[in-house]
Amino acid sequence: MVGKHPGKANVFMNVNDRSKIAIIGGGASGMMAALVAARGGATVTIYEHMDRIGKKILMTGNGKCNFSNLSFSDKDYYTNNTDLIKSVFGQFSNQDAMNFFIKNGVLVKEKNQYLYPLTEQASTILDLFRRELEQSGVTIHTSYEVSKIVVMKDRSASGQEQNLFKIQDDPTAYQKVIIACGGKAAPKSGSDGSGYRLAQTLGHEVIQPLPALVQLRSSESYFKAIAGVRTEAILKLCVEGKVITEESGELQLTDYGISGIPVFQLSGMAAMALFEKKRVEVIIDFIPSVSKEDLKEYITEQGMRFQNAEVPPLLEEILQGLMNKKIVMMLMKQSGMKADIKINQLAPIELDKLLGRIKKWYVKITNTNPFANAQVCRGGIDCMQVSHSCESLLIPGIYFTGEILNVDGRCGGYNLQWAWSSGVVAGLHACQSMQKR
Ligand SMILES: Cc1cc2nc3c(=O)[nH]c(=O)nc-3n(C[C@H](O)[C@H](O)[C@H](O)COP(=O)(O)OP(=O)(O)OC[C@H]3O[C@@H](n4cnc5c(N)ncnc54)[C@H](O)[C@@H]3O)c2cc1C
Repeated sequence: MVGKHPGKANVFMNVNDRSKIAIIGGGASGMMAALVAARGGATVTIYEHMDRIGKKILMTGNGKCNFSNLSFSDKDYYTNNTDLIKSVFGQFSNQDAMNFFIKNGVLVKEKNQYLYPLTEQASTILDLFRRELEQSGVTIHTSYEVSKIVVMKDRSASGQEQNLFKIQDDPTAYQKVIIACGGKAAPKSGSDGSGYRLAQTLGHEVIQPLPALVQLRSSESYFKAIAGVRTEAILKLCVEGKVITEESGELQLTDYGISGIPVFQLSGMAAMALFEKKRVEVIIDFIPSVSKEDLKEYITEQGMRFQNAEVPPLLEEILQGLMNKKIVMMLMKQSGMKADIKINQLAPIELDKLLGRIKKWYVKITNTNPFANAQVCRGGIDCMQVSHSCESLLIPGIYFTGEILNVDGRCGGYNLQWAWSSGVVAGLHACQSMQKR
């Protein structure tokens, strides 16, 4: 588990007065914040501009909802405030999320550390929230776009000045507002970036949102010939000629560039470098399990074996024992070799050239795919402007949760975990601070 525990979240505390909390956005973090606040005794209203809450959840984990991960560290996240995420995960961890789901009637399945509902159906998670929100008396306004939050001043019985809020033209005065609008990734699910504008009208800085956990594009023409190939590979992200990070796993070659989990994991850093107009390349090792020297020895031995053969095999045929045929043909062509070269005709200098490409194939990256294809957003509300209870440091009473903040995680359940954890923390602190008044 991550970080120091500043105090575990107490899900059972109660506020005396039915204080009012508005939640903008009925996604993963908004639903969690609503549930926790309502169970804490607050009167909670969700404003959601889609016709249903939780649409994105149904898309997660290929419809199976990879809701968290057993392997967990703050290193699995990108943010401009590591202390914030350590504190939030300290208050509600991956273990707490697992316990929450089990306690609320969803059994859990683990696959290579990735956590899913036992049913492997994302709808199981969404149904849990719909049911529990109803049970807890949360009011849900759907098809309700929020573009304005009015901030008013109020004086409490003790004479203390505090903020009160109104949502659009709704006459209700809220003591707290939790902004849980998500980022800009997959806008058809509702997260269209309108939350950033809302935050900006309240004075918050938004760090440039960029697509992340997304495919990388290249303008090289040879991708058409290798589209559809999947292969295990090591990928190094190279910015201005310097390797900054690497990932391994199944690479997918497409007609516009590269995809697959290792590409997704590199994509946030690539997006930032491209945004800064830097030169971005990905260096691919197509046979990571064998060293260049061992490959050289093996191919040379094959050449010797057929040195005096009457009908020696083609180089291409030998290489097909090592790599996908489409990749073999493309690498041979790029190395200036004819397709019909025989294994025993290969000159050492040609072999070196070919091996150089097999072990270090440079792909010049020109762009990421757009937000429509991205799973998350890199960037968002400046995390230095929120407290460890996810409350705005600029306007007390406003809270932020989930992907709208400048926090994004690796592929593997980390983004939903952030949504759950920040949702719990904001929901509870919003309740607790009303209780103290
Ligand atoms: C295809 C896909 C697969 C994914 N798979 C996984 C996975 O398996 N595991 C994982 O951890 N993460 C996954 N993610 C990422 C994860 O879904 C998100 O990080 C998470 O849902 C963010 O939660 P959120 O509450 O911050 O925002 P969202 O879930 O985006 O919810 C925001 C809500 O706010 C509403 N809203 C926005 N603006 C307004 C407004 N102005 N007024 C009213 N309502 C508004 C939206 O309609 C939406 O319902 C995936 C994402 C995608 C797109």
